[in-house]
Amino acid sequence: MQVELLEATSDPEELVCRAARNDYMSEYGGDMAFEDVMVSVEGDSLTEKKETLIGHLLAHGHYGPFEHVQATFHVKGISRSCMAQITRHRHVSFDVQSMRYVAFDDVDPEDVTEGEFVVTPPAADDPDWVGRNQKTGSVDEETVEKRREVFENSVQQSVQDYQDLLDLGMAPEDARFVLPIGTSVNMVMSLNARMLMHVADMRAAADAQWEVRELTESVLDLAGDWCPITFDYYEENMKNRKNRLAP
Ligand SMILES: Cc1cc2nc3c(=O)[nH]c(=O)nc-3n(C[C@H](O)[C@H](O)[C@H](O)COP(=O)(O)OP(=O)(O)OC[C@H]3O[C@@H](n4cnc5c(N)ncnc54)[C@H](O)[C@@H]3O)c2cc1C
Repeated sequence: MQVELLEATSDPEELVCRAARNDYMSEYGGDMAFEDVMVSVEGDSLTEKKETLIGHLLAHGHYGPFEHVQATFHVKGISRSCMAQITRHRHVSFDVQSMRYVAFDDVDPEDVTEGEFVVTPPAADDPDWVGRNQKTGSVDEETVEKRREVFENSVQQSVQDYQDLLDLGMAPEDARFVLPIGTSVNMVMSLNARMLMHVADMRAAADAQWEVRELTESVLDLAGDWCPITFDYYEENMKNRKNRLAP
């Protein structure tokens, strides 16, 4: 999987603070310098004032100001299973690579064993990997080799069948029915900072599946560079709590 930050609101934390200060000022802040908007907030520098205000907002569940800042991420190579999980979030906007208009007719089924085109779960390689809802614990090398063989044969056969159906004139939108749920997909997703924290509450949590957790952790890392005060606070004080989108 690969995740890139494509585009994001510039100066996001100034915007969050301006929006929040609006709520508590008698004056109109639209034509005020940021220093003046923040004059009554505790702190020796503007950065400290932003830390004070953003910390206060997050500590008190005043999340509305975080809806004004948005980021767009480009995601490469997640499974369709992971895509189904992340696209359940209704306040996130998505563009998903089509299997109707894109025909994967140049994929060599032999390459699928190398992790091309189909995402391989860690349980197919790692004997010590114990997935959630798994009935057994870790397994021996022989068992994991068998798992790997069954997995590879199955996905290779699916890709071969898909291409045979294309060769027989079936449209990609119908031929895709034989492809596995692990088939990889690229997507673009946009969400605001409040939603990003909500997604992280649910999808970076221990009960989420490894792949959507990995995706969420990558998004959180990028968000930390984009909105450092907000996501440092989130990491230190809010992560791993149960979902609390609204106060
Ligand atoms: C570990 C895990 C396991 C899951 N297992 C399953 C499963 O087996 N089957 C399954 O179907 N789903 C499953 N889900 C998906 C889950 O039930 C949610 O549908 C999904 O995570 C979207 O999150 P959300 O409900 O917070 O909504 P979002 O779309 O992220 O919306 C954010 C918030 O807005 C509010 N909201 C949005 N729309 C409405 C609305 N129509 N009415 C009222 N409030 C609304 C809610 O407060 C919601 O929390 C699972 C999720 C997780 C994290």
